[in-house]
Amino acid sequence: MSKQIHARRIEGIDKNVWVEFTQLVVEHKVNVNLGQGFPDFSPPEFAKEYFKDALFESGGMLNQYTRAFGHPLLVKVLAQFFSKLFGQDLDANLNILVTVGAYQALFCTFQALIDEGDEVIVIEPFFDCYEPMVKMAGGTPVFIPLRLKSLKEGVPLSSGDWMLDPEELAAKFTAKTKAIVINSPNNPLGKVYKKQELEMIAELCIKNNVLCFSDEVYEWLVYDGTEHIRIASLPGMWDRTISIGSAGKTFSATGWKVGWAFGPDHLLRHLRTVHQNSLYHCPTVAQEAVAQSFQKEFERFSEPESYFVQLPQQLSLKRDQLVRCLTAVGMKPIVPEGGYFLIADISGVKVDLPEPSDRDEPYDFRFVKWMIKNKGFATIPVSAFYSSQNKKHFSHFIRFCFAKKDDTLIAAEKILQSWNLTN
Ligand code: PMP
Ligand code: GLN
Repeated sequence: MSKQIHARRIEGIDKNVWVEFTQLVVEHKVNVNLGQGFPDFSPPEFAKEYFKDALFESGGMLNQYTRAFGHPLLVKVLAQFFSKLFGQDLDANLNILVTVGAYQALFCTFQALIDEGDEVIVIEPFFDCYEPMVKMAGGTPVFIPLRLKSLKEGVPLSSGDWMLDPEELAAKFTAKTKAIVINSPNNPLGKVYKKQELEMIAELCIKNNVLCFSDEVYEWLVYDGTEHIRIASLPGMWDRTISIGSAGKTFSATGWKVGWAFGPDHLLRHLRTVHQNSLYHCPTVAQEAVAQSFQKEFERFSEPESYFVQLPQQLSLKRDQLVRCLTAVGMKPIVPEGGYFLIADISGVKVDLPEPSDRDEPYDFRFVKWMIKNKGFATIPVSAFYSSQNKKHFSHFIRFCFAKKDDTLIAAEKILQSWNLTN
């Protein structure tokens, strides 16, 4: 009798939008890449200097292993930095786990806390890896879409116009619900949850004894005076929340792959079990550079020269430039309150797409593939951020990353203007 080769837990999750579209970008001559979310500008000079210093540090010991659950200097600085933000006296050794990017923090969280038969509420649109990660842990994702609440004629839509329906959300909680995943600022929409919305979610978590996994990788990137609120800082939430962050997003260095999870020891101890038996520890030089960079930011917190003040200022100008450009060529952008991305409605854009080779392929996937091949311009289809049952309702949006050099955005504008989209 022949044996099945693959493990059943990876069935149905073999497709990945990043693998597919990064490959297309490599294969075709892409002049403008507003697809995958990474800055095409440099991390700040100070962060790169710290990295270099760590690499060449005299004893060379920063090139060797460090503490499994986080380099001592990094967990110390993170505890100091975030204690005030969470309203908790963080213990560097018990309340923080350093991981290989936010991806591994998410993976440890699902593996450690989700079991066969558990349900996990996921809000759509969602960062795509949540669904396969819930499934690999044996859980069942339960989806709820953000719904468009207001349509004002002539006024551009904002990510804040997309909201949860409190009754619909309450009805998703069952005896099997183990956790809810939230992502604020959200990828791909750019929604930043308001205090009232987070309080509503918190109340349901407490009432139903449910955990909260809060992905906050874009925590510093909020615009127009919008405030990023950490759900773990709301009353009754610290004890049931894992909060996840990324140095890749914080210091515009996505290739360093340093991330972390914050939480109470009674939850984090289980993440440590997964971590020690899989990755064990993360690259030391990158952790040292991130620690030094946070130390610098700690000393100038909220001051005008802080990177956490300057980066969102720069990005909000880039966001506005892209919104203007997309509006002028007939797309309908949704203005994001935070994050790296904006999504735009392409319903009004006329292009002659070739007949689909796969009848089930959503329109936005076909549109973006056509753009890459014919216009040398990469974006990401938004239906990739929806569950299979809801994809079909959201296949007329594409996602643009605006964390790019001004030159890149100008090149994007030129392509769009010459394209004559509405004819
Ligand atoms: N969560 C969200 C919402 C993201 O957009 C990303 C992509 N950067 C991640 C997690 C993973 O982050 P990292 O690159 O630090 O693994
Ligand atoms: N988070 C980034 C994005 O949304 C990159 C994800 C990835 O490359 N896997 O574009």
